[in-house]
Amino acid sequence: MDALDLSLLPQEIVVANERFPAELAACSDLDALNRLKGVYTGREGSFAVKLMEKLKSAPKERKRDLGAAINSLKSTWEEALKAKQVDLEGMKKSLEAAKNLWDTTLPPPVPPMGALHPLDRLMARLVEVFRPLGYHVEEGPEVETEEHNFDGLNIPEDHSARGTADTFYLAAHPQLLLRTHTSPVQVRVLKRLATELEKRNGIRFLAPGRVYRKDEIDPTHSPMFHQVEGMLVGKGIGMHHLKGTLAYAMKALFGEGADVRFRPSYFPFVEPGSEMDVRCPLCGGAGCRVCKGSGWVEILGAGLIHPNVLRFAGIDPDIWSGFAFGMGVERTAMMVSQTPDLRLFFENDQRFLKLMGGLD
Ligand SMILES: [Zn+2]
Repeated sequence: MDALDLSLLPQEIVVANERFPAELAACSDLDALNRLKGVYTGREGSFAVKLMEKLKSAPKERKRDLGAAINSLKSTWEEALKAKQVDLEGMKKSLEAAKNLWDTTLPPPVPPMGALHPLDRLMARLVEVFRPLGYHVEEGPEVETEEHNFDGLNIPEDHSARGTADTFYLAAHPQLLLRTHTSPVQVRVLKRLATELEKRNGIRFLAPGRVYRKDEIDPTHSPMFHQVEGMLVGKGIGMHHLKGTLAYAMKALFGEGADVRFRPSYFPFVEPGSEMDVRCPLCGGAGCRVCKGSGWVEILGAGLIHPNVLRFAGIDPDIWSGFAFGMGVERTAMMVSQTPDLRLFFENDQRFLKLMGGLD
């Protein structure tokens, strides 16, 4: 446009040229652009045609300059119109592509939702089963002392569990270890509440958590797994209280058909000690692969609190008594879900976790 001398052009064209950029910008589709094209550079009646007529009637000596001005102006308009057309065609194409991409009648996609891990859910469910019986949740550290993990639980000095073959001791602090069960929480809670037993009318709590043992990883073993510990201390507590409580809990957990049976067993921190079986929740007792045809599956260890455990915490076993039980969480989850390999619970394969959504 440098060479353009507007003074040579009719006023009507000068005004139109000033208006042109705004009019071009206002074109929002190709139809509007074509109308504008008609007004400025079309074959009939356009500003371009009027300019050519002006050129024809111009005096000879001015034709050269006027011709140059007209050509310059026309090509400026044409270039701007062409660029705008490319823009609008591109926009139209992407709109059409978007139309094919989006089916606006479909409901919007639902983002994937997170959920609790199946082991956490099972532990939470146990807590819920015991809550109406007055049990609250207690926790303890995973790095423990021998005092809490062994001494306070009446585990003898020469017991094999105290050896480095079975237990992880901390290299930098050999007097500390990774707890081998949730039972040290018993010792901590008993010590803490020993003087408040009368006021509290006893104690009852659950202690869910991680425990560690030097086991090789295989389909039924892991060096880290979960337990839920339960304990009740009161006056005149006997095996009948333990049996009634656990029978109730198993029915709440597995349904009304969940009968239980107790077999004598030995754990240093209870006397008498017992293992408890529940009627196989999968076959209802008829016999299946999970219960190995017996109709019963072992689910936890339990017993009446050994007097030495109470004494260690400063509680008089002539006044107070109680029971304790400990349940393997992975073992129970595997049984309920018929999962043959413990490792699946730790690999976080989304397909497995999704399948386990039916666990509870
Ligand atoms: Zn069975």
